[in-house]
Amino acid sequence: MNSEQNNNIHNNDVNRLLDGEPVGMTVQVVRVMGDGAFRQRLLEMGFVRGAQVTVLKNAPLRDPVEYMIMGSHISLRHSEAAQIEVTDKDAQFCDMEDSFNGTVETTVAGVDPLNDNVLRIALIGNPNCGKTSLFNYVTGAKEKVGNYGGVTVDSKEGWFTIGGRRVQLVDLPGTYSLTEYSPEEMYVRTYIRDNHPDAILNIVDAGNLERNLYLTTQVMDMNIPMVIALNMWDELEKSGDKLDVEMMSRLLGARMIPLTAYNGRGVKEVLEAAMEVIDESEKETLHHNVNYGNLIEDCLKELGQMCPGLDRYTVLKIIENDQHAIQLVDGQEGGEQVKKAATEMRKRIERDYNNDITSIITDLKYGFVRGALAEVLTPNPERATGETKPGYTLDRLLTNRWLALPILLVLMWLMFEATFTLGAYPQEWIENGIGWIGEWIGQTMPEGILRDLIVDGIIGGVGGVLVFLPQILILFFFISLLEDSGYMARAAFIVDRIMHRVGLHGKSFIPYLIGFGCGVPAIMATRTLENRRDRLVTILTVPFMSCSARLPAYLLLVAAFFTANQGLILMSIYLVGIVVAAITAIVLSKTILKHDKSQFVMELPPYRQPTARNAVIHMWSKGKQYLQKMATIILAASIIVWALGYFPRHDGQTPQEQVENSYMGQMGKAIEPLVEPLGFNWQMGVSVLTGAAAKEIVVSTMGVLYTGESDLDEESTSLKEKLQSATRPDGKPVFDSIVAYSFMLFILLYFPCIAALAAIKREAGWKWVAFEVVYTTGVAWLVSFLFYQIARMLA
Ligand code: GDP
Ligand code: MG
Repeated sequence: MNSEQNNNIHNNDVNRLLDGEPVGMTVQVVRVMGDGAFRQRLLEMGFVRGAQVTVLKNAPLRDPVEYMIMGSHISLRHSEAAQIEVTDKDAQFCDMEDSFNGTVETTVAGVDPLNDNVLRIALIGNPNCGKTSLFNYVTGAKEKVGNYGGVTVDSKEGWFTIGGRRVQLVDLPGTYSLTEYSPEEMYVRTYIRDNHPDAILNIVDAGNLERNLYLTTQVMDMNIPMVIALNMWDELEKSGDKLDVEMMSRLLGARMIPLTAYNGRGVKEVLEAAMEVIDESEKETLHHNVNYGNLIEDCLKELGQMCPGLDRYTVLKIIENDQHAIQLVDGQEGGEQVKKAATEMRKRIERDYNNDITSIITDLKYGFVRGALAEVLTPNPERATGETKPGYTLDRLLTNRWLALPILLVLMWLMFEATFTLGAYPQEWIENGIGWIGEWIGQTMPEGILRDLIVDGIIGGVGGVLVFLPQILILFFFISLLEDSGYMARAAFIVDRIMHRVGLHGKSFIPYLIGFGCGVPAIMATRTLENRRDRLVTILTVPFMSCSARLPAYLLLVAAFFTANQGLILMSIYLVGIVVAAITAIVLSKTILKHDKSQFVMELPPYRQPTARNAVIHMWSKGKQYLQKMATIILAASIIVWALGYFPRHDGQTPQEQVENSYMGQMGKAIEPLVEPLGFNWQMGVSVLTGAAAKEIVVSTMGVLYTGESDLDEESTSLKEKLQSATRPDGKPVFDSIVAYSFMLFILLYFPCIAALAAIKREAGWKWVAFEVVYTTGVAWLVSFLFYQIARMLA
């Protein structure tokens, strides 16, 4: 801890820490202690000198704590709040003058926007400000939108036409800043550097300008043509705040246009303005930059002349001692001189402002933003803030000390129960339809291989999985509601303490929840975690969250072998997955992935009413993906499985003997000893083997393998009935509830599918893929084994 300053506050109690402040208290930030990425993040989130913070509430388990700063809700752990020194809310800082000095201008030479034949506009903005909503609206894409940070983790490209010109629009991940501390910041920064967009469309949340415009000050320094879209204009209008857009445009020297992205109001104007700035950039133009005051401006000018190729943003970063920026001059001609000069400048500035460079620059940027806003924004005096905002009565309930966790559990139970019961109706219709088609083909086609292929292979295999489409849609519908309402981030807030216990981060909860849908986007979603070890632990445990591809197998088995409490049985499987993930996380974070501490700086987005449009788009795109998977990988796998179970042919055998002597049967017999202790027969063994490609194939394989027996009993047409009547060689039934549960446990835990492994490879590398394959399959075997043996003993 460094002990400078503090003597310049007219106040005695200088050593108050934010952590010690009671709920309801409003205080002023004096400074953030510590250093590195964490401190930088806090500064960017608005914890700068003089900013007012209100303590809103403790999480149900006491940690973390929700604060309000600059109109947004941020959660911090107690240990983190202890890093922030605060003072009375009306204390005066005598060293803080209003640092709004307006802008300075830089002349930028004209460029040919079509130098690489593509007109390109990049969307930049804070997380959750509506970039993807705009992107979808403009390009007609159906990218995922969600009311929390970190939904978009990659760039997405789309096209639109304006005035007869084709323009590429790029949706980038949201960032609070471009300091390259987190993977997203790095991504955006690199994207701009390598792809040179012709214009930047800077989306800001009009209801939260102070924090949002911080990023704008950085973009301004890059001297790329820019248009600022004031999104969520509808919310600003509703709040009653008045904003003088024209005046603000003039003060910041950038075009600003009100926008309501999700219904398209203002989109046309925004795009037209973007095209105008692109056209103007063909000629020499004046760019406006934040004026940092004489001393820093002189330094920028001087150093800028020493490295002519670099933009103002990078030059300032070099002065700030940013390693990524310094790399750009390292090894270049004159690079050493630049570094030396920058160090001297940094020392001079730090001495002059009596503070460290990061704080100085952040303070100045926020000073600029505040100064500008003071002139253009008239807040509605009756404006609802904090606890009086819409949704916050409900919030008090949702995050209540005693009720929060039960509510979370009930919501999840509702989700599974609804998936089960509501989905059963359309499922029956589809089942009947498929049965009818199969029968019809069976009657009209001549006997032979082709008929068997179509009826047993394709209809038996693909049809067996297709019937679960309604359930999958319902599950995604619920996930979409959770995401859109803003509850996702609250769930992370509620469980952070528990997650922390197992060595994880509350934010990991979001990938886990997404993992109930599909592991691939869930693994991608871990990119919002800043700590690499947290990310790895989360990536490796996400596959234990039971994805929707496994759902068909559970639904089939639960419906066939459990009569009471079907929703609870289903949920218990999911809970086992969670428990195994937790144990794995504890072990990993205590052994090979040990690390000191991670932070819980997370923004809690405002509650928003989920829109039907969003939920339907989400369901639709998931449904499409599911059908595509049916038509490709599952179709192919079903045919292969069918062929392996059909050949070689021998005359005069019953269908059952036929399957047993097939290639598939031989394979199954070979692995039978391995799966026998788990209560499985060889058909089940083969099913999990083929299911490694995609978990739905477990069901389609059973569909193919058990159709061979259908001739024995003409009545039983559905797979469920076939499983119920299947017998072992000794005449006992293959399945009972114990075998079914053991089988579900195995399907839950073993080998993530190929697509998930590919995602793990992308995010973590081959080494972890190998680990994951061995580990998950080992755990699956062990858990099923213990369950089966113990349950048999007790039964
Ligand atoms: P991104 O993270 O910047 O890509 O933001 P998203 O496009 O995912 O949107 C974040 C949330 O804001 C979603 O819940 C949207 O439905 C909502 N949203 C987006 N644009 C608007 C808008 O203009 N007005 C309002 N009220 N909500 C919006
Ligand atoms: Mg997005």
